[in-house]
Amino acid sequence: MSNKIEVTDLNKSFGDLHVLKDISLSIKNKEVVCLIGASGSGKSTVLRCLNFLEMKDSGIVVIDGKEIDVKKDDLNQVRQQVGMVFQHFHLFPHMTVLQNVMEAPVQLKKAKKEEAKKTALDLLEKVGLSDKADVYPEKLSGGQKQRVAIARALAMKPEVMLFDEPTSALDPELVGEVLKTMKQLAEEGMTMVVVTHEMGFAQEVADRVIYMHDGKIVEEGTPHELFNMPQNQRTKDFLEAVL
Ligand code: ADP
Ligand code: MG
Repeated sequence: MSNKIEVTDLNKSFGDLHVLKDISLSIKNKEVVCLIGASGSGKSTVLRCLNFLEMKDSGIVVIDGKEIDVKKDDLNQVRQQVGMVFQHFHLFPHMTVLQNVMEAPVQLKKAKKEEAKKTALDLLEKVGLSDKADVYPEKLSGGQKQRVAIARALAMKPEVMLFDEPTSALDPELVGEVLKTMKQLAEEGMTMVVVTHEMGFAQEVADRVIYMHDGKIVEEGTPHELFNMPQNQRTKDFLEAVL
């Protein structure tokens, strides 16, 4: 199977703080990979380096077989290929749900309005929010906002979706609806990298789980391998604390 993402020896520092230390990983086509680890271990920075919201200091990032050269390549193009969903939804407050989902395709891809609208309505149906198309974000629950954010990212027809703790800001009773949407997306064959503290989701949906500690990948494996027979003491300690 071909790799959608290939990262080799990624390093990133913020000032004196060496945050990512020789991170290498590959994500296969249609694979769902969960990235777990303590707060501050570098999970968000990995995701942000994958879609160039953050610039790596060194290392190679290959997306869909093509090495990304930050000097030559159009990073907006790369960000269209690699969609991202954040902990805090970042919806445009002055736009309706429908406008939120249509905005990027119309502005960045110069999609025709009618076409973009049809795609957006299809996506809203997919995330179960057809009835909210004309509502403004402030009228939505956190779970609904996050599902709009997912639809909005999908509107760009990304090759890969990155999720950075998409349910961490939600009230507990709203977590399930977002995880269900993500699971559905996984079942449809979307390639996904998910930073999450939802170990149940990781166990059930991930093909592979990667455990990070202090800017390094400590261990990776299938959910069964990682959760049931962790090899590294740090992984064991982390899982003991969170499971
Ligand atoms: P995680 O997502 O696993 O909690 P992060 O990738 O957010 O970890 O952060 C890893 C480390 O990098 C932390 O020590 C954090 O404080 C630091 N860090 C992240 N972003 C920045 C930034 N923009 N400037 C300075 N330090 C940062
Ligand atoms: Mg984070």
